[in-house]
Amino acid sequence: MDRNTGSGLSFAKRLYLPRCIGLGIGFFCVAAALWEMQLAPGVWALLLFNGYLWPHLAYQWARLSAQPYRTERRNLLIDSLFGGFWAGVMQFSALPTVTILAMMAMNNIAAGGGRLFLLGSLAQVGGALLAMLLFGAVFDPHTSMRELYACLPMLVLYPLALGMVCYQLTIRLAEHKQALRAVSRTDSLTSLFNHGHWKDLLQIEFDKCRHGQQRATLALIDIDHFKTINDNHGHLVGDSVLRQLSETLVASLRNEDLAGRYGGDEFCVILPNTPPVMASEVMERLRRSFAEVRSQLAPGLHVSLSIGLAGYSPFQGNASDWLEDADRALYQAKSEGRNRTVIATDGPRDALPASE
Ligand code: GH3
Ligand code: MG
Repeated sequence: MDRNTGSGLSFAKRLYLPRCIGLGIGFFCVAAALWEMQLAPGVWALLLFNGYLWPHLAYQWARLSAQPYRTERRNLLIDSLFGGFWAGVMQFSALPTVTILAMMAMNNIAAGGGRLFLLGSLAQVGGALLAMLLFGAVFDPHTSMRELYACLPMLVLYPLALGMVCYQLTIRLAEHKQALRAVSRTDSLTSLFNHGHWKDLLQIEFDKCRHGQQRATLALIDIDHFKTINDNHGHLVGDSVLRQLSETLVASLRNEDLAGRYGGDEFCVILPNTPPVMASEVMERLRRSFAEVRSQLAPGLHVSLSIGLAGYSPFQGNASDWLEDADRALYQAKSEGRNRTVIATDGPRDALPASE
């Protein structure tokens, strides 16, 4: 978390509503205990300030601060100091004292872990000592029925509010995790699967083929003389050609086909449940339609593709063998003059067919 700027402010925003609710209803817990005490009007004014003004002041303080996260942590410690203070003024009436101190401790631990809990506890002790210094050290834990009823809203509503904040945070975290996972699998230039993720998919598809669940075909697609395109027209044009190829590729494939950028100017596709001859028709269509694509940045530019195809074969011992077959076919397409599609010849390798 960036604790100094943006997300420090979101931390303060997240705590704003729970603080308004907690201190607003916490007011009644304390007021019920102070009701029959002969206290100066200033004490009641302070209680009103703490219950209904302080939450807004604390938020504005964090909002306007150069370091909202640090300011908000300090605000939490001030909450704890007030809590300890009111416990001392209430002469430690058991239920209101436990209610407000426990809620604050829960807040501190949720917001800052064990360290903030410890600091908050020290602030609570400090607040209680201050109250004892001002109003005398009296310990009277007896709790009246009035105090008990006044504590009920706090005991019910505050955990609900804090639980809701935690739930929203969990949802946001799950969304971020999902977005991060998508980014880690995607090639940033073309938005296709990146090399690493596509290789994982290749392994999965190979295993399916090996267990007889399907016959898939692998395609490796390479742009002809791409280096010359970069050299003659610049890397921006080169990049736009790569993007155009990825768009044409996606438009030519079915949803279940798995297209990735293998690296540089080489693309890779797994076509599940597709024999090589059918895959070759798809790839020939792609090759022809890509030959007609014109770059806005270099309208005179003609780009061709070489494509190597390999169907799954039981002679392939692992996914790398399958990839090697497609690579051989691509090499053949290049050496036979480029701008063509070649299907790898199916045949026994050095090893025997892989066992099921
Ligand atoms: P061939 O016909 O044999 O495939 O020749 P080629 O020039 O296409 O092959 P080569 O592998 O020599 O060149 C690929 C070039 O792709 C070299 C590299 O600078 C360029 N390249 C790799 N990644 C990118 C990229 O993201 N953007 C751009 N513009 N160029 C890239
Ligand atoms: Mg190339």
